[in-house]
Amino acid sequence: MPIYEYNCLACGVNFTLFQKMGTPQGDSACPTCKSTDVKRLISSFSCGSESGGLSMPSTHGSGGV
Ligand SMILES: [Zn+2]
Repeated sequence: MPIYEYNCLACGVNFTLFQKMGTPQGDSACPTCKSTDVKRLISSFSCGSESGGLSMPSTHGSGGV
């Protein structure tokens, strides 16, 4: 099941929801302030290349011994 990340425009908190594909965005509400004024961020389900270079010293250890 895909995980969707949201940012609440009302209180600014970020939260994630498990939702089926095709769930309308208006169906999501902030768990903190119950506001439905939320913005869907990119799913953390399919972004592996972006955060891959953070904790992987791949270019540092190549060409050593
Ligand atoms: Zn909120």
